[in-house]
Amino acid sequence: MNCHKTYIFSDYISAVYELSLTSCLEIKTHRIMIRKETKASILVVEDEESLREALKLNLELEGYEVTTVDNGPDVLKVVKNEYFDLIILDIMLPDMDGITVCETIRMQHNDVPIMFLSARNSSADKVEGLKKGGDDYLTKPFNLEELLLRVQKLIVKNKKIHDPHAVPDVYQFSGGKIDFAAHECTDHTGAKQELSKKEAALLKLLIEHEGQVVSREHILQIVWGYNVYPTTRTIDNFILNFRKYFEADSRNPKHFHSVRGIGYKFTA
Ligand code: CA
Repeated sequence: MNCHKTYIFSDYISAVYELSLTSCLEIKTHRIMIRKETKASILVVEDEESLREALKLNLELEGYEVTTVDNGPDVLKVVKNEYFDLIILDIMLPDMDGITVCETIRMQHNDVPIMFLSARNSSADKVEGLKKGGDDYLTKPFNLEELLLRVQKLIVKNKKIHDPHAVPDVYQFSGGKIDFAAHECTDHTGAKQELSKKEAALLKLLIEHEGQVVSREHILQIVWGYNVYPTTRTIDNFILNFRKYFEADSRNPKHFHSVRGIGYKFTA
């Protein structure tokens, strides 16, 4: 399967930069069968429409969920509300350049992998991009196969870092006991409490990442799903409830911590 895929690419495309949308569509018929089991989500930021559409199409054919934007300020809006496994970021953009966008994302403590895509090909440009928080830098025109390989590597590496621990159906810690299958818990006083579906999902996510900060974007993606944007306050209210259930002193929490501007952390 893989060899076949590579063959089609090298045969049809040397550089996606020069690729028109029409030729992309021709390739689609050849490649429609290729799908990955889980969909990673990618944000493509590119102001040049033909390249943006070509990237979107080819990444979708690889089985990725793709969102596109064409300017810097929109990236900042989108990443606040949605979780991405990777951002492909053009540097020369209207209104705000890619380097500034990347810097701003990092200032918000968002560690989403970022791959720069730029016509600027001096080593000084590359160094600057990586220094400002980029994880990779690819110059235009590029080879599509190389781009896809780099994309895959960045996503796999990032997923490994954030790999969740397996949590049993009944989880016990010093704050109480949670029965995920029954959607109920025993609080710190020994009383039984019912858990809503979302409460159980959020508890599970935090416990899976015990000792790590789980970002707000990640929580939104897993617990609320795409295209639903509750406010930070909503997640805060869930955390307040968890403290009521599982903390002997909810003002000095030992288990459920809010990490300002970043997310939430559980410690057993
Ligand atoms: Ca550009």
